Amino acid sequence: MTAFLTAPFPIRTVVIANRGEIACRIIATCRRLGLRTVAVYSDADAEALHVRLADEAHRLGPAAPSESYLCIEAVLAAARASGADAVHPGYGFLSENAAFVEACAEAGFIFIGPSADAVRSMGSKIEARRIAAKAGVPVVPGFEGAGASNEELIAAAERIGFPVMVKASAGGGGRGMRRVESAEALAAALASAQAEAGSAFGDDTVFLEKLIGAPRHLEVQVFGDGRGGARHFHERDCSVQRNHQKVIEEAPAPNLADAIRERLFASALKLTRAIDYAGAGTVEFIMEAGSGEPYFLEMNTRLQVEHPVTEAICGVDLVELQLRQAAGLPLNLSQEQIVTRGHAIEVRINAERPDCGFLPATGRFLDVVPPSGLRFDSGVAAGSEVGTSYDSMLAKLIAYGVDRDTARKRLIAGLEALAMPGVPTNQAFLADCLRADAFAEKTPTTAFLQEAFPEGWHPDANSLLRLRGRAAAVLIAASTDSPLHRTDGFRVTRPRRTGTVPLHVEDEYGQADLALCFGAGLSVESGPHSLALKDEPPAVWRQGELIHAVGEGLSLSLTARPLAEARLSARTEDQAAGQILAPLTGLVTKVHVATGDRVKSGDPLLEMEAMKLVHTLAAPFDGIVAKVACAAGDTHGAKTILIEMEEAA
Ligand code: ADP
Ligand code: ADP
Ligand code: MG
Repeated sequence: MTAFLTAPFPIRTVVIANRGEIACRIIATCRRLGLRTVAVYSDADAEALHVRLADEAHRLGPAAPSESYLCIEAVLAAARASGADAVHPGYGFLSENAAFVEACAEAGFIFIGPSADAVRSMGSKIEARRIAAKAGVPVVPGFEGAGASNEELIAAAERIGFPVMVKASAGGGGRGMRRVESAEALAAALASAQAEAGSAFGDDTVFLEKLIGAPRHLEVQVFGDGRGGARHFHERDCSVQRNHQKVIEEAPAPNLADAIRERLFASALKLTRAIDYAGAGTVEFIMEAGSGEPYFLEMNTRLQVEHPVTEAICGVDLVELQLRQAAGLPLNLSQEQIVTRGHAIEVRINAERPDCGFLPATGRFLDVVPPSGLRFDSGVAAGSEVGTSYDSMLAKLIAYGVDRDTARKRLIAGLEALAMPGVPTNQAFLADCLRADAFAEKTPTTAFLQEAFPEGWHPDANSLLRLRGRAAAVLIAASTDSPLHRTDGFRVTRPRRTGTVPLHVEDEYGQADLALCFGAGLSVESGPHSLALKDEPPAVWRQGELIHAVGEGLSLSLTARPLAEARLSARTEDQAAGQILAPLTGLVTKVHVATGDRVKSGDPLLEMEAMKLVHTLAAPFDGIVAKVACAAGDTHGAKTILIEMEEAA
């Protein structure tokens, strides 16, 4: 490392023009190398982790990306004010913006990334396909007539053969893509892809590709010297995707013939050399499962989200290599020296509800406790707020092992141990993906989620019941001032008396009546199901009446009341009069009934989202809906009357 710092190393201070986990990850390498770090932030991120971690931080502007992380002038002003030498763009935001690369150079900063020309030519998928084809790289059969009329595109689609994929030339992040099954559907798909591309990327040019059915997504990590020299750092497989966005990534690609691997490397290096590429980049390919023929998809001229799996198997720090390259130092690695060892798998941890169509979630983390022994690249820590201004990826968890199955099992254990109470995340879903046969036993394709969860994902019913039971037991043991105190004398680990406590619990996955049974051991019953519970309490965090519990591979925010009391209050308090009140201030998301409907006790009437949880309000008795005083989309204050019911005559 000393060589890194000896004069005339031209980089002392690095501005990280990004946020979240990637800003934190870049700061970590800079710090290790003794470089000063400068964070930039929007008003939404004033307290964010990357701001806390950097040596210095500068405000860019309001939360909107166009006024902060995408505002070239604001980023350069921060760079000037901090006396920085270099700018690292991370991924997303300005990382693939050629004008930004040029503006950095004009302002006298080293841009840690490739040339503006490389960024510009690869930023156009149409141009990239042309350059790749010219360099002898097989591209997905398609039609890239820039400026082509819709008639020409329709004629081309007939030649390619349906189904086809309409893609935005400037696209990224899985957006601006439409699968089209027939000529009749093409005109509408073109229009909607063009509209989406225009508003998302400021360029509505689209092109066509043959749709590859259930393909594998393979990609090669490359590194260029800017003068036609290039190395590869082997391949990654990112076939597990949702909406064309990666969910799980691994390296090396499982079950891939060496001959195909060599073809991938040769193609990736041809393109990297053809554009005199400088620094780290990724050449992406798509391969019809079983075909053995990878086609070029696109090149990303930046650090990739999933770069840690490559770092794990190649034993390199790609951000360090980027810094060295930007500083003018040679890579000094022969291709033979770049070898892989073992297997690594990464999962993207998002603030979202996989059980509710992957609805993005918001809130504040009470805590963030990473599992020991695994790499955890996070943009959040205890106290971090997750808002709606930016995308929902919070962190990445990466496991390494001597082989794929070892890495897979470590990652599952890591996801189960990782505690992130306060904001719903997809961690239980990710663990189920890693457990699924289609991942563990087979070679995943982009159809993986459909195959593994044809009905959508829901938490395992037994795990859910067990965690509810264990969390409720903690509440009982701790609540000396509640009516539950009647179980005084009970301790979770060593119950002194036997008995059954019927409870009503509510959490983000719904509500349930269950009974905790204390006998020789602790068990939980719900309907006909009875499950033995571990003696030890789960990890819990208290927040007023809510208890956040992490265990059984799940995370819950739960309230519990004695069943009799819950029934009684449902009957007596507010609802005896048939008034269904908002339990908290929140958003009505669904109304299941209309005036005049006949409902049975327990039937769902409406759903509300409040305190980041979905609350289903149910009919307190058999009756008739007399009045619906709310609609989906309304926000109502706590205790507002939402529905009125009458007893059936
Ligand atoms: P990667 O390609 O690194 O595996 P993604 O494709 O998910 O990962 O992109 C990384 C990040 O950059 C995501 O936050 C994504 O939304 C964003 N992103 C990628 N390309 C673009 C683009 N052209 N415009 C805006 N955002 C983009
Ligand atoms: P982005 O810039 O948004 O990352 P890509 O061209 O890399 O766009 O495609 C993203 C994903 O969309 C691919 O990994 C693949 O799953 C899917 N995809 C893209 N093109 C095709 C195609 N021609 N056929 C089938 N799937 C495709
Ligand atoms: Mg891509």
